[in-house]
Amino acid sequence: MDIVKGNMGWIEVIVGPMFSGKSEELIRRLRRAEIARQRVQIFKPLIDQRYAKNEIVSHSGLEIRSDNVGTATEVLHRVEPRTEVVGIDEAQFLGEELITVCMKLADMGKRVIVSGLDTDFMGRPFEPMPRLLAVAEEITKLLAICVRCGNPAVNTQRLVASEDLIVVGAQGMYEARCRRCFEPHLAHEKIEAEKETEEKVRAVSG
Ligand code: ADP
Ligand code: ZN
Repeated sequence: MDIVKGNMGWIEVIVGPMFSGKSEELIRRLRRAEIARQRVQIFKPLIDQRYAKNEIVSHSGLEIRSDNVGTATEVLHRVEPRTEVVGIDEAQFLGEELITVCMKLADMGKRVIVSGLDTDFMGRPFEPMPRLLAVAEEITKLLAICVRCGNPAVNTQRLVASEDLIVVGAQGMYEARCRRCFEPHLAHEKIEAEKETEEKVRAVSG
């Protein structure tokens, strides 16, 4: 962002698939703000107790301390008046209210930096990120590297048999794929295959 006068706030959004470097980029921007002695607060949604540690960790091992929140509104309540920069990671899990919360923070004069997935495991727009892009001042779209062919990867491939929108990923549950190698129906096919196997087992055993 150039030419910002007075205490104008704004919204920066970093999107892309898993492994595209969103957390790295968010951490980089927040570190630089801290080096400039700005007051920074960082939040991430508490979606799973296994990930309750008070820090954001990138796939490459970069980390920065953060606070867990249950809802986007909680971010609004927890931001202190003197805070200048607000960072939010994994924002796709924070729901529709994220948009009004980010708008309010920016209207209060804060620089809001939000990172999250822009598409889900089927390649569909992952709300609220697409709508947040529409109201943001600055958008950064990152790509990963397709693990199949090495091309730029725009998609997050789910590798396990579940069609729930949110399946929190440990290692091996997701990988980056380009548009050619992406298989949006893989999760569904795996469920069908599991059903078939179960039926065969049942038929054999009795
Ligand atoms: P995101 O937050 O978008 O999931 P991270 O910032 O956590 O991404 O991690 C990005 C890092 O992941 C890269 O710098 C690289 O070291 C590592 N990485 C692992 N697999 C891939 C991949 N398929 N494409 C790109 N980077 C990858
Ligand atoms: Zn590919």
